[in-house]
Amino acid sequence: MREVRIRDSLSGELRTLPQDEEIGIYACGPTVYSRIHIGNARPFVVFMLLARFLKSEGYHAKLIINVTDINDKIYDAAKDAGEPSEKFAKRMTAAYFEDTDRLGLGRPDSEPLASETIRGIVDLIAELVESGHAYESGGDVYFRVRSFHHYGKLSNRRFEDMDQGEEAGSASLKEDPLDFALWKAHKEGEDSSWSSPWGPGRPGWHIECSAMAEAELGPSFAIHGGGSDLVFPHHENEIAQSEAAGRPFAQIWMHNGMIETDAEKMSKSEGNIFQLSEAIAKYGNEVVIDYLVSGHYRQPLAFDTGAMIQACARVERIRNFFREHQEPDDSKAEDPWVCARREDFRAALADDFNTAKAMAEVFDLVGERNRRYLAGARQAVRAMLSVLGLGSLAKAEAEVDLHAEELLAERQEARAKKDFARADEIRDCLAEMGWEVRESIDGAKLVPKG
Ligand SMILES: [Zn+2]
Repeated sequence: MREVRIRDSLSGELRTLPQDEEIGIYACGPTVYSRIHIGNARPFVVFMLLARFLKSEGYHAKLIINVTDINDKIYDAAKDAGEPSEKFAKRMTAAYFEDTDRLGLGRPDSEPLASETIRGIVDLIAELVESGHAYESGGDVYFRVRSFHHYGKLSNRRFEDMDQGEEAGSASLKEDPLDFALWKAHKEGEDSSWSSPWGPGRPGWHIECSAMAEAELGPSFAIHGGGSDLVFPHHENEIAQSEAAGRPFAQIWMHNGMIETDAEKMSKSEGNIFQLSEAIAKYGNEVVIDYLVSGHYRQPLAFDTGAMIQACARVERIRNFFREHQEPDDSKAEDPWVCARREDFRAALADDFNTAKAMAEVFDLVGERNRRYLAGARQAVRAMLSVLGLGSLAKAEAEVDLHAEELLAERQEARAKKDFARADEIRDCLAEMGWEVRESIDGAKLVPKG
Protein backbone atom coordinates (compact mmCIF):
# COMPACT_ATOMS: atom_id res chain seq x y z
CA MET A 1 0.00 0.00 0.00
CA ARG A 2 1.17 3.49 -0.78
CA GLU A 3 1.96 5.74 2.17
CA VAL A 4 -0.49 8.66 2.25
CA ARG A 5 0.26 11.79 4.24
CA ILE A 6 -2.06 14.65 5.15
CA ARG A 7 -1.11 17.96 6.76
CA ASP A 8 -2.82 18.21 10.14
CA SER A 9 -4.02 21.77 10.81
CA LEU A 10 -3.77 21.23 14.57
CA SER A 11 -0.09 20.28 14.77
CA GLY A 12 0.93 21.76 11.41
CA GLU A 13 2.66 18.45 10.68
CA LEU A 14 2.32 15.92 7.88
CA ARG A 15 0.69 12.81 9.31
CA THR A 16 0.82 9.35 7.76
CA LEU A 17 -2.51 7.57 7.55
CA PRO A 18 -2.68 4.17 9.26
CA GLN A 19 -2.88 1.29 6.77
CA ASP A 20 -4.36 -1.41 8.93
CA GLU A 21 -7.52 0.31 10.17
CA GLU A 22 -10.59 2.08 8.82
CA ILE A 23 -9.94 5.66 7.69
CA GLY A 24 -13.01 7.40 9.07
CA ILE A 25 -13.48 10.87 7.57
CA TYR A 26 -16.03 13.30 8.95
CA ALA A 27 -16.48 16.49 6.94
CA CYS A 28 -18.84 19.28 7.99
CA GLY A 29 -21.57 19.62 5.41
CA PRO A 30 -23.81 22.57 4.65
CA THR A 31 -26.38 24.32 6.79
CA VAL A 32 -29.35 24.04 4.50
CA TYR A 33 -30.82 27.54 4.55
CA SER A 34 -30.39 28.21 0.81
CA ARG A 35 -29.18 26.50 -2.36
CA ILE A 36 -25.49 25.72 -2.02
CA HIS A 37 -22.81 27.68 -3.82
CA ILE A 38 -19.38 26.81 -5.19
CA GLY A 39 -17.84 27.56 -1.79
CA ASN A 40 -19.96 24.81 -0.18
CA ALA A 41 -19.15 22.48 -3.06
CA ARG A 42 -15.41 22.67 -2.42
CA PRO A 43 -15.32 20.56 0.77
CA PHE A 44 -17.85 18.15 -0.80
CA VAL A 45 -15.59 17.65 -3.83
CA VAL A 46 -12.30 17.60 -1.87
CA PHE A 47 -13.46 14.96 0.62
CA MET A 48 -15.40 12.87 -1.92
CA LEU A 49 -12.26 12.72 -4.08
CA LEU A 50 -9.96 12.07 -1.12
CA ALA A 51 -12.13 9.08 -0.12
CA ARG A 52 -12.20 7.90 -3.75
CA PHE A 53 -8.40 8.15 -4.01
CA LEU A 54 -7.88 6.31 -0.71
CA LYS A 55 -10.23 3.53 -1.79
CA SER A 56 -8.36 3.24 -5.10
CA GLU A 57 -5.14 2.76 -3.10
CA GLY A 58 -6.71 -0.05 -1.10
CA TYR A 59 -7.53 1.91 2.06
CA HIS A 60 -10.75 1.17 3.86
CA ALA A 61 -12.06 4.74 3.82
CA LYS A 62 -15.47 5.71 5.14
CA LEU A 63 -16.70 9.23 4.43
CA ILE A 64 -19.39 11.00 6.42
CA ILE A 65 -20.69 14.42 5.38
CA ASN A 66 -23.45 15.69 7.64
CA VAL A 67 -26.36 18.00 6.92
CA THR A 68 -27.08 20.73 9.45
CA ASP A 69 -30.85 20.99 9.22
CA ILE A 70 -31.47 22.65 12.60
CA ASN A 71 -30.03 26.14 12.92
CA ASP A 72 -30.98 29.81 13.57
CA LYS A 73 -30.35 30.64 9.92
CA ILE A 74 -32.93 28.04 8.89
CA TYR A 75 -35.61 29.54 11.14
CA ASP A 76 -34.92 32.97 9.62
CA ALA A 77 -34.85 31.76 6.02
CA ALA A 78 -38.03 29.68 6.51
CA LYS A 79 -39.83 32.75 7.81
CA ASP A 80 -38.70 34.74 4.77
CA ALA A 81 -39.93 31.93 2.53
CA GLY A 82 -43.23 31.79 4.42
CA GLU A 83 -42.81 28.08 5.11
CA PRO A 84 -42.71 25.94 8.27
CA SER A 85 -39.03 25.49 9.15
CA GLU A 86 -39.18 21.69 9.02
CA LYS A 87 -40.68 21.71 5.53
CA PHE A 88 -38.21 24.35 4.39
CA ALA A 89 -35.21 22.40 5.75
CA LYS A 90 -36.46 19.22 4.02
CA ARG A 91 -36.83 21.05 0.73
CA MET A 92 -33.35 22.59 0.99
CA THR A 93 -31.81 19.24 2.00
CA ALA A 94 -33.36 17.66 -1.10
CA ALA A 95 -31.99 20.54 -3.21
CA TYR A 96 -28.51 20.00 -1.73
CA PHE A 97 -28.64 16.28 -2.64
CA GLU A 98 -29.85 17.12 -6.12
CA ASP A 99 -27.20 19.81 -6.70
CA THR A 100 -24.31 17.66 -5.48
CA ASP A 101 -25.67 14.61 -7.39
CA ARG A 102 -25.12 16.62 -10.56
CA LEU A 103 -21.39 16.66 -9.85
CA GLY A 104 -21.49 12.97 -10.78
CA LEU A 105 -19.23 11.90 -7.91
CA GLY A 106 -21.73 9.66 -6.13
CA ARG A 107 -22.62 10.09 -2.45
CA PRO A 108 -20.63 9.88 0.79
CA ASP A 109 -20.95 6.61 2.73
CA SER A 110 -23.37 8.30 5.10
CA GLU A 111 -25.04 11.72 5.35
CA PRO A 112 -26.59 12.08 8.80
CA LEU A 113 -29.09 14.82 9.55
CA ALA A 114 -28.94 16.76 12.83
CA SER A 115 -32.72 16.33 13.14
CA GLU A 116 -32.26 12.54 13.17
CA THR A 117 -29.47 12.55 15.77
CA ILE A 118 -31.28 14.33 18.62
CA ARG A 119 -31.04 11.42 21.04
CA GLY A 120 -27.25 11.15 20.71
CA ILE A 121 -26.94 14.94 21.00
CA VAL A 122 -29.02 15.07 24.21
CA ASP A 123 -27.07 12.15 25.72
CA LEU A 124 -23.73 13.85 25.02
CA ILE A 125 -24.94 17.14 26.56
CA ALA A 126 -26.20 15.24 29.63
CA GLU A 127 -22.76 13.64 30.04
CA LEU A 128 -21.09 17.05 29.91
CA VAL A 129 -23.52 18.48 32.47
CA GLU A 130 -22.92 15.52 34.76
CA SER A 131 -19.13 15.88 34.58
CA GLY A 132 -19.27 19.63 35.27
CA HIS A 133 -18.16 20.71 31.79
CA ALA A 134 -21.59 22.18 31.08
CA TYR A 135 -24.40 23.85 33.02
CA GLU A 136 -28.07 24.60 32.57
CA SER A 137 -29.20 28.21 32.67
CA GLY A 138 -32.72 29.43 31.93
CA GLY A 139 -33.53 26.32 29.89
CA ASP A 140 -30.34 26.70 27.82
CA VAL A 141 -27.24 24.58 28.40
CA TYR A 142 -23.75 26.09 28.02
CA PHE A 143 -20.31 24.56 27.74
CA ARG A 144 -17.96 25.80 30.49
CA VAL A 145 -14.99 26.70 28.31
CA ARG A 146 -12.49 27.26 31.12
CA SER A 147 -13.14 23.72 32.38
CA PHE A 148 -11.40 22.33 29.28
CA HIS A 149 -7.72 23.15 29.57
CA HIS A 150 -6.84 22.58 25.93
CA TYR A 151 -9.37 25.09 24.67
CA GLY A 152 -7.90 27.12 21.81
CA LYS A 153 -5.39 24.49 20.66
CA LEU A 154 -6.76 24.27 17.12
CA SER A 155 -7.27 27.97 16.39
CA ASN A 156 -4.36 29.18 18.55
CA ARG A 157 -6.37 32.15 19.72
CA ARG A 158 -6.07 33.93 23.01
CA PHE A 159 -9.21 34.05 25.14
CA GLU A 160 -9.47 37.83 24.70
CA ASP A 161 -9.64 37.38 20.91
CA MET A 162 -12.45 34.84 21.02
CA ASP A 163 -16.02 35.66 20.16
CA GLN A 164 -18.50 32.77 20.04
CA GLY A 165 -20.70 34.85 17.75
CA GLU A 166 -23.82 34.01 19.73
CA GLU A 167 -26.85 36.25 20.09
CA ALA A 168 -26.49 39.08 22.59
CA GLY A 169 -29.57 37.90 24.52
CA SER A 170 -27.74 34.82 25.82
CA ALA A 171 -24.96 36.84 27.51
CA SER A 172 -26.85 37.18 30.81
CA LEU A 173 -27.35 33.40 30.98
CA LYS A 174 -23.63 32.61 30.65
CA GLU A 175 -21.24 32.31 33.58
CA ASP A 176 -18.49 33.52 31.27
CA PRO A 177 -18.74 35.22 27.84
CA LEU A 178 -16.38 32.50 26.50
CA ASP A 179 -18.99 29.80 27.10
CA PHE A 180 -21.06 28.57 24.16
CA ALA A 181 -24.51 27.03 23.78
CA LEU A 182 -25.05 23.28 23.61
CA TRP A 183 -28.82 23.51 23.94
CA LYS A 184 -31.16 26.45 23.34
CA ALA A 185 -34.53 26.67 25.05
CA HIS A 186 -37.50 26.99 22.73
CA LYS A 187 -38.19 30.62 21.87
CA GLU A 188 -41.29 32.50 20.83
CA GLY A 189 -41.59 32.37 17.04
CA GLU A 190 -39.64 29.11 16.56
CA ASP A 191 -41.99 26.53 15.05
CA SER A 192 -40.11 23.38 16.08
CA SER A 193 -38.60 22.00 19.27
CA TRP A 194 -37.42 18.74 20.79
CA SER A 195 -37.81 17.54 24.36
CA SER A 196 -34.82 17.29 26.68
CA PRO A 197 -34.04 17.05 30.42
CA TRP A 198 -33.75 20.89 30.34
CA GLY A 199 -37.12 21.43 28.69
CA PRO A 200 -38.13 21.83 25.05
CA GLY A 201 -35.58 23.36 22.73
CA ARG A 202 -33.05 22.58 20.06
CA PRO A 203 -29.35 21.72 19.93
CA GLY A 204 -26.54 24.17 19.22
CA TRP A 205 -24.68 23.75 15.95
CA HIS A 206 -21.34 22.54 17.40
CA ILE A 207 -22.74 19.70 19.50
CA GLU A 208 -24.66 18.39 16.48
CA CYS A 209 -21.36 17.58 14.75
CA SER A 210 -19.69 16.04 17.83
CA ALA A 211 -22.67 13.70 18.22
CA MET A 212 -23.04 12.86 14.50
CA ALA A 213 -19.31 12.14 14.11
CA GLU A 214 -19.37 9.76 17.08
CA ALA A 215 -22.60 8.07 15.99
CA GLU A 216 -21.13 7.32 12.56
CA LEU A 217 -17.44 6.73 13.26
CA GLY A 218 -17.10 6.02 16.96
CA PRO A 219 -15.23 8.02 19.62
CA SER A 220 -11.96 8.13 17.65
CA PHE A 221 -11.49 8.49 13.89
CA ALA A 222 -8.78 9.46 11.39
CA ILE A 223 -9.74 12.75 9.74
CA HIS A 224 -12.05 15.63 10.57
CA GLY A 225 -12.46 18.00 7.67
CA GLY A 226 -14.20 21.18 6.66
CA GLY A 227 -13.64 24.69 5.40
CA SER A 228 -10.99 26.83 7.08
CA ASP A 229 -13.76 29.25 8.10
CA LEU A 230 -14.94 26.56 10.56
CA VAL A 231 -11.71 26.40 12.60
CA PHE A 232 -13.12 28.86 15.13
CA PRO A 233 -15.47 28.57 16.82
CA HIS A 234 -17.06 25.46 15.24
CA HIS A 235 -14.18 22.98 15.24
CA GLU A 236 -12.57 24.38 18.39
CA ASN A 237 -15.88 23.75 20.13
CA GLU A 238 -16.29 20.27 18.68
CA ILE A 239 -12.88 19.36 20.15
CA ALA A 240 -13.81 20.84 23.53
CA GLN A 241 -17.13 18.98 23.76
CA SER A 242 -15.89 15.59 22.58
CA GLU A 243 -12.53 15.58 24.38
CA ALA A 244 -14.04 16.93 27.62
CA ALA A 245 -16.46 13.98 27.40
CA GLY A 246 -13.45 11.65 27.25
CA ARG A 247 -13.47 10.86 23.52
CA PRO A 248 -10.12 10.92 21.69
CA PHE A 249 -12.02 12.37 18.66
CA ALA A 250 -10.18 13.27 15.42
CA GLN A 251 -6.54 12.30 14.84
CA ILE A 252 -6.01 14.69 11.91
CA TRP A 253 -7.71 18.02 11.16
CA MET A 254 -7.88 18.83 7.46
CA HIS A 255 -9.14 22.22 6.28
CA ASN A 256 -9.84 23.42 2.79
CA GLY A 257 -9.24 27.06 1.82
CA MET A 258 -12.04 29.42 0.89
CA ILE A 259 -13.38 30.21 -2.56
CA GLU A 260 -12.76 33.92 -3.03
CA THR A 261 -15.06 35.97 -5.14
CA ASP A 262 -15.80 39.61 -5.73
CA ALA A 263 -19.47 39.50 -4.78
CA GLU A 264 -20.29 42.88 -6.28
CA LYS A 265 -18.64 42.15 -9.59
CA MET A 266 -20.25 38.72 -9.68
CA SER A 267 -23.78 39.90 -9.15
CA LYS A 268 -23.40 42.58 -11.80
CA SER A 269 -21.93 40.70 -14.68
CA GLU A 270 -21.98 37.01 -13.98
CA GLY A 271 -25.56 36.29 -13.01
CA ASN A 272 -25.83 33.60 -10.43
CA ILE A 273 -23.11 31.18 -11.47
CA PHE A 274 -21.69 31.18 -7.95
CA GLN A 275 -24.62 28.89 -7.16
CA LEU A 276 -23.49 25.31 -7.79
CA SER A 277 -26.58 24.32 -9.81
CA GLU A 278 -26.16 27.34 -12.09
CA ALA A 279 -22.44 26.76 -12.58
CA ILE A 280 -23.05 23.11 -13.53
CA ALA A 281 -25.92 24.06 -15.85
CA LYS A 282 -23.72 26.59 -17.60
CA TYR A 283 -20.33 24.85 -17.77
CA GLY A 284 -21.00 21.19 -17.04
CA ASN A 285 -19.92 19.14 -14.02
CA GLU A 286 -16.45 18.33 -15.37
CA VAL A 287 -15.52 22.00 -15.69
CA VAL A 288 -16.68 22.68 -12.11
CA ILE A 289 -14.67 19.71 -10.81
CA ASP A 290 -11.61 20.65 -12.85
CA TYR A 291 -11.83 24.19 -11.46
CA LEU A 292 -12.09 22.89 -7.88
CA VAL A 293 -9.11 20.53 -8.21
CA SER A 294 -6.98 23.11 -10.04
CA GLY A 295 -5.59 24.48 -6.78
CA HIS A 296 -4.18 22.80 -3.68
CA TYR A 297 -7.11 22.18 -1.34
CA ARG A 298 -5.55 24.18 1.49
CA GLN A 299 -5.07 27.32 -0.60
CA PRO A 300 -7.78 29.87 -1.29
CA LEU A 301 -9.15 29.67 -4.84
CA ALA A 302 -10.32 32.69 -6.83
CA PHE A 303 -13.69 32.35 -8.50
CA ASP A 304 -14.80 34.39 -11.49
CA THR A 305 -15.81 33.84 -15.10
CA GLY A 306 -12.18 33.96 -16.19
CA ALA A 307 -11.32 31.03 -13.92
CA MET A 308 -14.26 29.06 -15.32
CA ILE A 309 -13.27 29.81 -18.90
CA GLN A 310 -9.76 28.55 -18.18
CA ALA A 311 -11.27 25.38 -16.72
CA CYS A 312 -13.41 25.03 -19.90
CA ALA A 313 -10.29 25.21 -22.01
CA ARG A 314 -8.48 22.56 -19.93
CA VAL A 315 -11.46 20.21 -20.05
CA GLU A 316 -11.73 20.71 -23.79
CA ARG A 317 -8.05 19.87 -24.21
CA ILE A 318 -8.71 16.54 -22.55
CA ARG A 319 -11.84 15.88 -24.62
CA ASN A 320 -9.88 16.63 -27.78
CA PHE A 321 -7.16 14.24 -26.67
CA PHE A 322 -9.70 11.41 -26.52
CA ARG A 323 -11.28 12.47 -29.83
CA GLU A 324 -7.92 12.50 -31.57
CA HIS A 325 -6.49 9.31 -30.17
CA GLN A 326 -9.28 6.85 -30.70
CA GLU A 327 -7.06 3.81 -31.21
CA PRO A 328 -8.16 0.75 -29.25
CA ASP A 329 -6.46 0.14 -25.94
CA ASP A 330 -2.85 -0.85 -26.42
CA SER A 331 -1.91 -4.43 -25.95
CA LYS A 332 1.74 -3.37 -25.98
CA ALA A 333 3.54 -2.83 -22.74
CA GLU A 334 3.04 0.65 -21.31
CA ASP A 335 5.76 3.11 -22.26
CA PRO A 336 8.02 3.73 -19.22
CA TRP A 337 7.47 7.49 -19.53
CA VAL A 338 3.69 6.95 -19.27
CA CYS A 339 4.22 4.70 -16.29
CA ALA A 340 6.27 7.42 -14.58
CA ARG A 341 3.50 10.03 -15.10
CA ARG A 342 0.93 7.65 -13.66
CA GLU A 343 3.17 7.04 -10.67
CA ASP A 344 3.86 10.77 -10.15
CA PHE A 345 0.12 11.46 -10.35
CA ARG A 346 -0.56 9.09 -7.45
CA ALA A 347 2.49 10.27 -5.53
CA ALA A 348 1.17 13.86 -5.73
CA LEU A 349 -2.19 12.80 -4.31
CA ALA A 350 -0.48 10.79 -1.59
CA ASP A 351 1.52 13.87 -0.60
CA ASP A 352 -1.14 15.95 1.16
CA PHE A 353 -3.64 15.39 -1.63
CA ASN A 354 -2.03 17.73 -4.14
CA THR A 355 -4.65 17.64 -6.91
CA ALA A 356 -3.04 20.60 -8.71
CA LYS A 357 0.21 18.70 -9.15
CA ALA A 358 -1.67 15.52 -10.06
CA MET A 359 -3.57 17.33 -12.84
CA ALA A 360 -0.29 18.79 -14.11
CA GLU A 361 0.87 15.18 -14.64
CA VAL A 362 -2.30 14.48 -16.64
CA PHE A 363 -1.64 17.48 -18.90
CA ASP A 364 2.02 16.52 -19.30
CA LEU A 365 0.92 13.16 -20.56
CA VAL A 366 -1.77 14.63 -22.83
CA GLY A 367 0.72 17.11 -24.31
CA GLU A 368 3.44 14.54 -24.88
CA ARG A 369 1.04 12.04 -26.51
CA ASN A 370 -0.15 14.81 -28.83
CA ARG A 371 3.48 15.13 -29.95
CA ARG A 372 4.46 11.46 -30.23
CA TYR A 373 3.03 7.97 -29.93
CA LEU A 374 3.24 6.56 -26.40
CA ALA A 375 1.99 3.07 -25.71
CA GLY A 376 -0.65 3.00 -23.00
CA ALA A 377 -1.12 6.79 -22.83
CA ARG A 378 -4.83 6.70 -23.51
CA GLN A 379 -5.58 4.13 -20.79
CA ALA A 380 -3.30 5.91 -18.35
CA VAL A 381 -5.02 9.29 -18.82
CA ARG A 382 -8.42 7.65 -18.46
CA ALA A 383 -7.37 5.89 -15.24
CA MET A 384 -5.86 9.08 -13.77
CA LEU A 385 -8.96 11.14 -14.58
CA SER A 386 -11.32 8.62 -13.04
CA VAL A 387 -9.50 8.94 -9.68
CA LEU A 388 -10.44 12.64 -9.71
CA GLY A 389 -14.03 12.13 -10.84
CA LEU A 390 -13.33 13.20 -14.43
CA GLY A 391 -13.53 9.78 -16.09
CA SER A 392 -16.51 10.86 -18.19
CA LEU A 393 -14.14 13.01 -20.29
CA ALA A 394 -12.77 9.84 -21.82
CA LYS A 395 -15.98 9.37 -23.78
CA ALA A 396 -15.28 10.40 -27.34
CA GLU A 397 -18.20 12.51 -28.48
CA ALA A 398 -18.61 14.08 -31.84
CA GLU A 399 -21.64 16.29 -31.29
CA VAL A 400 -21.30 20.05 -31.31
CA ASP A 401 -20.12 21.24 -27.97
CA LEU A 402 -22.97 22.80 -26.00
CA HIS A 403 -20.60 24.77 -23.85
CA ALA A 404 -18.89 26.25 -26.85
CA GLU A 405 -22.32 27.35 -28.12
CA GLU A 406 -23.09 28.93 -24.78
CA LEU A 407 -19.78 30.74 -24.76
CA LEU A 408 -20.48 32.03 -28.25
CA ALA A 409 -23.82 33.43 -27.07
CA GLU A 410 -22.03 35.06 -24.18
CA ARG A 411 -19.51 36.60 -26.57
CA GLN A 412 -22.29 38.08 -28.70
CA GLU A 413 -23.85 39.52 -25.57
CA ALA A 414 -20.55 41.08 -24.52
CA ARG A 415 -20.16 42.63 -27.99
CA ALA A 416 -23.68 44.03 -27.86
CA LYS A 417 -22.73 45.65 -24.56
CA LYS A 418 -19.51 46.90 -26.18
CA ASP A 419 -17.44 44.92 -23.70
CA PHE A 420 -14.84 44.06 -26.32
CA ALA A 421 -12.16 42.97 -23.89
CA ARG A 422 -14.49 40.28 -22.60
CA ALA A 423 -15.61 39.33 -26.11
CA ASP A 424 -11.95 38.85 -27.08
CA GLU A 425 -11.28 36.82 -23.97
CA ILE A 426 -14.10 34.44 -24.92
CA ARG A 427 -12.92 34.28 -28.54
CA ASP A 428 -9.45 33.24 -27.32
CA CYS A 429 -10.98 30.62 -25.07
CA LEU A 430 -13.04 29.25 -27.96
CA ALA A 431 -9.89 29.18 -30.09
CA GLU A 432 -8.18 27.13 -27.40
CA MET A 433 -11.15 24.79 -27.42
CA GLY A 434 -10.64 24.31 -31.16
CA TRP A 435 -13.31 26.68 -32.49
CA GLU A 436 -13.04 29.67 -34.72
CA VAL A 437 -15.73 32.37 -34.58
CA ARG A 438 -16.90 33.40 -38.07
CA GLU A 439 -19.26 36.29 -38.68
CA SER A 440 -21.89 35.56 -41.34
CA ILE A 441 -25.16 37.08 -42.53
CA ASP A 442 -27.02 34.89 -40.01
CA GLY A 443 -24.76 36.01 -37.18
CA ALA A 444 -21.65 34.51 -35.62
CA LYS A 445 -20.96 30.82 -36.16
CA LEU A 446 -18.56 28.29 -34.74
CA VAL A 447 -16.30 26.59 -37.23
CA PRO A 448 -13.83 23.89 -36.21
CA LYS A 449 -10.31 25.20 -36.62
CA GLY A 450 -8.53 23.54 -39.53
ZN1 LIG B 1 -19.52 20.55 11.81
